[in-house]
Amino acid sequence: MSDDIVSSSNAAAPSELIAREVARRRTFGIISHPDAGKTTLTEKLLLFSGAIQMAGAVKARKSGRHATSDFLEIEKQRGISVASSVMQFEYRDHVVNLLDTPGHQDFSEDTYRVLTAVDSALMVIDAAKGVEAQTIKLLDVCRMRATPIVTFMNKMDREVRDSLELLDEVESVLNIQCAPVTWPLGMGKTFRGVYHLLRDEILLFTPGEERADGEVEIIKGIDNPILAERFPLEIEQLKMEVELVHGASHPFDLEQFLAGKQTPVFFGSAINNFGVREILNALIDWAPAPRERDASVRSVEPTEQPFSGFVFKIQANMDPAHRDRIAFLRVCSGHFERGMKMKHLRIGKEIRVSSVVTFMASSREQAEEAYAGDIIGLPNHGNMQIGDSFSEGELLQFTGIPYFAPDFFRVVRIRNPLKIKQLHKGLQQLGEEGAVQVFKPVDGGDLIIGAVGMLQFDVVASRLQGEYGVDAMFESASISSARWVSCEDKKIFADFEKALSHNLAIDAAGNLAYLAPNNVNLRLTQERWPKVVFHTTREHA
Ligand code: GDP
Repeated sequence: MSDDIVSSSNAAAPSELIAREVARRRTFGIISHPDAGKTTLTEKLLLFSGAIQMAGAVKARKSGRHATSDFLEIEKQRGISVASSVMQFEYRDHVVNLLDTPGHQDFSEDTYRVLTAVDSALMVIDAAKGVEAQTIKLLDVCRMRATPIVTFMNKMDREVRDSLELLDEVESVLNIQCAPVTWPLGMGKTFRGVYHLLRDEILLFTPGEERADGEVEIIKGIDNPILAERFPLEIEQLKMEVELVHGASHPFDLEQFLAGKQTPVFFGSAINNFGVREILNALIDWAPAPRERDASVRSVEPTEQPFSGFVFKIQANMDPAHRDRIAFLRVCSGHFERGMKMKHLRIGKEIRVSSVVTFMASSREQAEEAYAGDIIGLPNHGNMQIGDSFSEGELLQFTGIPYFAPDFFRVVRIRNPLKIKQLHKGLQQLGEEGAVQVFKPVDGGDLIIGAVGMLQFDVVASRLQGEYGVDAMFESASISSARWVSCEDKKIFADFEKALSHNLAIDAAGNLAYLAPNNVNLRLTQERWPKVVFHTTREHA
């Protein structure tokens, strides 16, 4: 052990300590469609862990009433804040990192990319609505790394859909096996609680937000006569359903869950603090601690002593006084300590990290140390990009931090042609930051920008104005989707490029992309050029 300490330049933690710290980390994000209850549940998770004392704190941030923070004007208007980007709290002697996945209008490529930095995900579904569009997209991203998913069926205090039908929909639409862990007893006005299938006990529901400790009355055994006495109608229904569930659905299987093939399902009501404790426990008991991550030469174990990590998100100008950008780095191995030196692989430079932010539930704080699974914020003066890797000793380039094909496109024009240089510079930098994707048509013409969420365009326009002094206009483009293209056969690829040059563009990293005017065109083109591969994501260069 003493060898370990001596051999490292940064007075690294002994390996047992690293292993212990890694084992108690849980890093996850929430995937949901807007209004399913992500903000409410986030707040309740913080409340139950004791990280915040009062309900309403997260909501206040969301609506921009958070007095102590100042953000870029547009972020302020929309109530997007860095303080809620990463929330770290302790629960049952574990360190939980909850990474925010921006939804609503602030839905952007960041939302997808955050999911490449988590070890598990919590899927929140509005039980009245079932599986919705954004959830489908986000689950697809989770599938890329077979991320384990815990499911919470929310709003059981409302008139919701039939539970079996909901599970059926999750299984068929999202293509993941459901293993119900709790099962609802009634719903809406007659919602009485849930039956815990693994523990054979009923957790009784009382509406209200008061009990932050999550104390609930528990009745042992589904055949307990007390139940028949108190809820004669609902209990019969429950027994019937439980029989069906036992027969028709899968029992919880930890391995299947960890492989991303099965999701444990819980029912509850976030606003009523009901079912939240079970979710926290599932995350602690079942969700994985940080696992190995792929780098270009080998995979990296979280317990390795040298520090390593990668940047998955860059957020700009959160503090207008400093006009700084923060690069969000996910630690992949080793021990981070303030003041330590690390290598910035892409630019081949060593940096000393003396000022860094960590994210506690209550406020931004200076990070003193961090382990695999933790997120640290590095001040970025424009030299860090999404996908950049940092390490001590061996140079490691982490993989699997993709760019995602945009869904919305705009043609960029400027009012003052003399500003064309600034425009290009601005878009180049904003592209590297992942704020937007920039495409230069092969045949020439105006630049095209692409995004997965509409707010990205507003942010880019406002930043071009504020940071580069460029007054840009974004006009609608007749493009419906983009696909990066590649082909092993050089001759075929050359023919393809020649025949379709008017639909081709080069992105900020020099990759060729096909911009399809509509889905029919995309399908036909794919059919006509079977040897050409059309990619929906591209790796960081
Ligand atoms: P988000 O958009 O996913 O962050 O959703 P919010 O947390 O903002 O919730 C959307 C709406 O659903 C809000 O009006 C919440 O008060 C409400 N809501 C959240 N959880 C529940 C619940 O368990 N029951 C009911 N009836 N409403 C809920």
